[in-house]
Amino acid sequence: MDGGNSKTTFEACCNFIRAFSTCMHDYLYVYDLTGDAYYIAEPAVSRFRLPGCLFQNVVATLATFVYPEDEAMLNSDLELLLSGEKDEHNLEYRWLGRDGSPIWINCKGRLITSENGHTLMIGCINEIGNLAKADNISGLLGESSLREYIQQLLPATDDALFLRIGIDDFKLINERHGTEYGNFVLREVAGCIVNCLSPSQSAYRIVSDEFMVADVSGAGYYEMNKLYHNIRSAVDSVVAREKYKSIYTISGGLLSLKDLDCSLPNSVDEIMKLSEFALTEAKNRGKNQMYFFRPDDYDLFLRTRYVRSCLRQALANDFKGFELYYQPIVRSDNGGLFAAETLLRFHSPSGENIFPMEFIPILEESGLIIPVGKWIIRNSLSMCKRFREQYPGFMVSINLSYIQLLKSPMFEDITESLKDVDLPPSCLIVELTESGHLEDSIAVQNVWRKLREIGVHIALDDFGTGYSNLINIGNLKPNIVKIDRSFTLKALNYEYEHELLIHIIKMVHSIGLNLVVEGIETDDELQRITALNPDYIQGYYYSKPCPESEFSEKYLK
Ligand code: C2E
Ligand code: MG
Ligand code: MG
Repeated sequence: MDGGNSKTTFEACCNFIRAFSTCMHDYLYVYDLTGDAYYIAEPAVSRFRLPGCLFQNVVATLATFVYPEDEAMLNSDLELLLSGEKDEHNLEYRWLGRDGSPIWINCKGRLITSENGHTLMIGCINEIGNLAKADNISGLLGESSLREYIQQLLPATDDALFLRIGIDDFKLINERHGTEYGNFVLREVAGCIVNCLSPSQSAYRIVSDEFMVADVSGAGYYEMNKLYHNIRSAVDSVVAREKYKSIYTISGGLLSLKDLDCSLPNSVDEIMKLSEFALTEAKNRGKNQMYFFRPDDYDLFLRTRYVRSCLRQALANDFKGFELYYQPIVRSDNGGLFAAETLLRFHSPSGENIFPMEFIPILEESGLIIPVGKWIIRNSLSMCKRFREQYPGFMVSINLSYIQLLKSPMFEDITESLKDVDLPPSCLIVELTESGHLEDSIAVQNVWRKLREIGVHIALDDFGTGYSNLINIGNLKPNIVKIDRSFTLKALNYEYEHELLIHIIKMVHSIGLNLVVEGIETDDELQRITALNPDYIQGYYYSKPCPESEFSEKYLK
């Protein structure tokens, strides 16, 4: 077909495209500008939102499969072609995939005149966002080749293993020694992998610093663990040979096809996703090791992700789903109300009550505890204010996480809230949980000291669990020590812990502090514990944590 004087027709071009369509990854097309018809290679129809391989009314139909933001750019280029101002088309823009997601393409074409005088544009569309088929840096095949390989494997076998290997902290190598040295490391690690493989194993480079070994030998965990260690030793040798210019390690995530339902149409995506999880898990567990995928771990990961997204949603929705419950802390001598501990509750959008033991660590790890913590302080103090109108001297006790203390201006948040609700600092107790992390932090000790100086009461929570409680009494100088329920139970059941509790109470009193025993459920437990002379009792015996209305009902009437 030549520029101005071709013998071809639209139909002949369609036949030509049809003949070649299964032999190439790109999509040939012909557009009859005069007859307003378009034909594209059949495989494009299953990839993009096209109405079929042949359609008419071209400009209007384009709107159904071109990414909306790119439509204007395409139309102005087509206008130039239709008006004869130019005869070549070369545009990078996006089409819509079958699922509606944008796919980058490069569309090239040129105008010719057909035998019957029609203006035709003949050309080719190729996907420019496509995954690499091969990688020149490592010398290995790339992710799209791996995907094709798995696709061929899948119907026949469920006995393959995939070892995803990642270089630990690869970013640092690039940052410290430049990308050229980074590429050298990639090439060396690829070499180590390839040298350790048996004939029924193959290696691919997938994203940046990650490789995948596919094994179809019927090997088990033991053999793959050995393979991982062999590769690791080979990598160690490279590091030594390079005179420790850069010291790096590798992690591995192992996945067995047996852990998947391979009859699903998206099995390849599933393998990529689960192997990525396995590698991330190996890194999270300390790097330089191999982790073997376990469905239970993945379920836990999904559950955490779900809870995290519910929590984020609640925050975006003005804390909808969060609720504050209050549990009384009573005087041990006369059973009178001393304070209430604020305990956070969370209901997911589907109405599930998620336990604090599950959602508090997720709030902490995601940093969401900071805004939620501020909300807790403000609302607890408001509750305290309302309650004190009828019950002067009442105090509220709030739990603080170490993350809040380390990463937010806790002292300022507390003093500001006290000022806003117009309450003296002395009506507030702050309970420090997870104190094991804190005894060394000067910043935290400063917040503590400043809070104590203005008159906020400090309570050391969870006493009797963990390992450094006595040190915390020295470092954090609390006003109150709270004995955790797990220790209370031991003291109620075992002579040794019972004796220990007697001495803890004496010791706490001898240095002028007060003590709360948590977790008292029955009258018998109450009698036995009050005999030891603690200052305060907290437990289901008096009340389970409950909403403010129920709490007020109980104590104000
Ligand atoms: P904690 O601060 O030691 O709170 C006491 C826990 O013991 C509460 O569990 C309470 O419901 C439970 N409890 C009290 N008396 C009894 C009893 O007699 N029997 C039994 N079986 N349990 C009793 P909850 O509400 O599930 O909270 C668990 C932990 O979650 C809390 O332990 C605290 O560490 C954390 N938490 C709860 N709310 C917050 C919060 O607002 N902020 C922070 N940072 N942590 C919180
Ligand atoms: Mg507490
Ligand atoms: Mg406690």
